[in-house]
Amino acid sequence: MEIKQNVALKPYNTFGVKARAKQFAEVSEVSEILELLNIQQPELILGGGSNILFRKNIDGLVVKNNLKGKEVINEDDQSVEVRFGAGENWHECVLWCIEKGYGGIENLSLIPGTMGAAPMQNIGAYGVELKDVFVSLEAIDLEEKVAHTFAHTECEFGYRESVFKTTLKGQYFITSVTLRLTKTNHQLNTEYGAIQQTLEKMNVQNLDIKSISDAVIQIRQSKLPDPADLGNAGSFFKNPVLLKSQFEVLKALHPDMISYDLPDDYVKIPAGWLIEQCGWKGKQIGNTGTYKSQALVIVNHGRARGDEIWDLAHQIQDTVHAKFKILLTPEVNVL
Ligand SMILES: Cc1cc2nc3c(=O)[nH]c(=O)nc-3n(C[C@H](O)[C@H](O)[C@H](O)COP(=O)(O)OP(=O)(O)OC[C@H]3O[C@@H](n4cnc5c(N)ncnc54)[C@H](O)[C@@H]3O)c2cc1C
Repeated sequence: MEIKQNVALKPYNTFGVKARAKQFAEVSEVSEILELLNIQQPELILGGGSNILFRKNIDGLVVKNNLKGKEVINEDDQSVEVRFGAGENWHECVLWCIEKGYGGIENLSLIPGTMGAAPMQNIGAYGVELKDVFVSLEAIDLEEKVAHTFAHTECEFGYRESVFKTTLKGQYFITSVTLRLTKTNHQLNTEYGAIQQTLEKMNVQNLDIKSISDAVIQIRQSKLPDPADLGNAGSFFKNPVLLKSQFEVLKALHPDMISYDLPDDYVKIPAGWLIEQCGWKGKQIGNTGTYKSQALVIVNHGRARGDEIWDLAHQIQDTVHAKFKILLTPEVNVL
């Protein structure tokens, strides 16, 4: 394993912004991580770079995770537990599961990035979150240099949250993730978004995990920019969650406000709608702007610097706060 010096990070982040790593190494074995830790602590662990905004150069070691592998570790007639290497591409794992007939993650089709980053923010889309199929993960304690297994409850999953983004931030290198998937009686989830409509348009006769995945892929391709064509990191902000009582006050002032009920008297408001109401949808400022079909996605029109994107994010935050008294918080990891 080689430690390279002064490496360009542009090819390693889907925003496509320029930044450099003082040192850079790629690991494909757990032993290589331990070997690295004996030399130097990493400044950043990198998966697919699809949830990161570089505002500056990284003045330390960046470790790119290439740990591969898919292994069935438990199985009965109903379900299967598969352990995935943390460097596996998420969407390729979804397609692999569908081919094997394993259900549970088809609604999470086409989310960019790696398996190891999926628990970081409990990835979610179309009514399903990683936590719904998650069993456990293995991670290396960067300080103690030992492996630890985290059970579901220890990960403290929430909406785009886990313990690895909060109290244990920067302390562990996730090396594998185990998911429990169904082999029969799949729980087909078509309620959310435009899945049902898209399935009808596709004239699907036999609803199965493959057709749901195909519908999700079709919707996502029509709604979201492909980072290969237009730099972005998906949703820049989280959807704000408010108490129903707070929401009622806002709704009286803004009767058109969209919301989704959550358990325990909470309400989720689509951040994209709030941003759109402030006139940001499709707007371009210099090298950056928001996507024409989804105001929640900040894009790089080609030569944007990380700071330029961060400035725009602040302007969006300010105008949304001024109009709705809601402070948007970033979903993207800003470095
Ligand atoms: C077009 C587009 C659409 C998207 N749609 C969705 C969506 O629908 N739902 C959703 O939830 N997200 C979505 N995202 C965001 C992103 O794809 C996910 O958050 C994804 O899980 C990030 O994976 P990554 O490997 O690229 O992580 P990176 O961006 O490389 O890293 C993200 C964070 O995790 C840390 N990290 C990465 N790997 C490890 C590891 N092995 N151990 C410890 N820490 C690690 C990094 O240090 C960083 O802090 C989208 C992004 C894009 C560009």
